[in-house]
Amino acid sequence: MKLENVWMLLPGRRVGFGTIETEGDSISSVSLREPGKSDRLVLPGLVNCHCHAPMTLLRGVGGGLPLKRWLEEAIFPLEAKLTDEDVHAGALWGAMEMLAGGTTTVADMYEWNYQHAFLEAGMRARVTTVGRLGAPGRLAECIERTRSWNERMRGEARGDVYMDICVHSEYLTDEHFCRELAAANRELGRRLHVHVSETRREHEECVARHGKTPIAYLADTGLLDRGGYAAHCVWCTDDDFRIMAERDVSLVHNPTSNMKLGSGFARIVRAMELGVNVALGTDGTASNDNLDMFEEMHLASLIHKGIANDPTVLSPWDVVEMATKNGAKALGRGDIGEIAVGRKADFCIVDLDRPHLLPAHDLANLVVHSMHSGDVVQTVVGGRTVYDASLGGDAFDGCPISRAAAKEALLASAARILV
Ligand SMILES: [Zn+2]
Repeated sequence: MKLENVWMLLPGRRVGFGTIETEGDSISSVSLREPGKSDRLVLPGLVNCHCHAPMTLLRGVGGGLPLKRWLEEAIFPLEAKLTDEDVHAGALWGAMEMLAGGTTTVADMYEWNYQHAFLEAGMRARVTTVGRLGAPGRLAECIERTRSWNERMRGEARGDVYMDICVHSEYLTDEHFCRELAAANRELGRRLHVHVSETRREHEECVARHGKTPIAYLADTGLLDRGGYAAHCVWCTDDDFRIMAERDVSLVHNPTSNMKLGSGFARIVRAMELGVNVALGTDGTASNDNLDMFEEMHLASLIHKGIANDPTVLSPWDVVEMATKNGAKALGRGDIGEIAVGRKADFCIVDLDRPHLLPAHDLANLVVHSMHSGDVVQTVVGGRTVYDASLGGDAFDGCPISRAAAKEALLASAARILV
């Protein structure tokens, strides 16, 4: 693949103009020249570090409820009706929504065996089966599913979909569960995906139960020994941030979800000062209600300036890196998240010829403050185009099933569970 006469956002916070070439699944050359005229901007593929893709089935459900009531009254009763087929339909639709918005890699957490949906969509994914107390044998099933899927994927040339380990949260597990999973992970060797200190109540109840914060508790169980990525972290303390920095645990900031559920504002600026890697996530579509990483960049940039009363907080480049390179780091990936020779050829290509994007004085600022997912015209994963807006109804070239079939499956499942 050869992308000629394009603008690009490059490592070192530089803007370039020129040609990007790929060979196999990687970038083989980046050649720069004097800027000319072009309406195309190439960004590294966006990395969504906290999502529940199958929740596209529940888009917008339970609006107006706080987290505990939202989960128990709106979400869990509907999720109890889901079948493997429903979850697959929701995950595939979520993957398509993300690809259409320039997201090439996702960290996704849900209950079912649905990771193949991301393979079908041609997306990179780190999928986790939710670890939480439930049926007997559930912990063993989570461990076995993770082990067997990763072994199978290692033997296959196609795709980049692996399973990490997960506990939903401190409050939906117990210490035995956490310690057993941590012990199993000495062999599995995966990073941990977890919800942490999303609400004040959850954070304080953990302190009352265990005498320590959720992050300190997870660290003590051994679950942070291989690093990981913790969603929300709204009520984390400075000591929590120090533990995260030391244990290579990234903070995944979900500004839309935290505001919609009235959870608060994660102190990401302080976390960064203390050395924590901060990435971005959309969360699921029942608490967002879309999977648009440009919106997350926009909100992340604005809310922290507002809270600090300081417009110099978080530069546009800080925020672009949260959605790209920092996301890659959160998932333990040194081979994605930047446009550089040798990195995987994952791109999000934007059409700048739009009323709200001209003139393009400052491209990083434009990405964070003016762009949205609908401006993406092409998405490339590993050198292969998986979304091309110019093809209209056939835009999802990378999916073996058509957009129409995916839509039909999604709507049929949604209609069945929402009766
Ligand atoms: Zn979540």
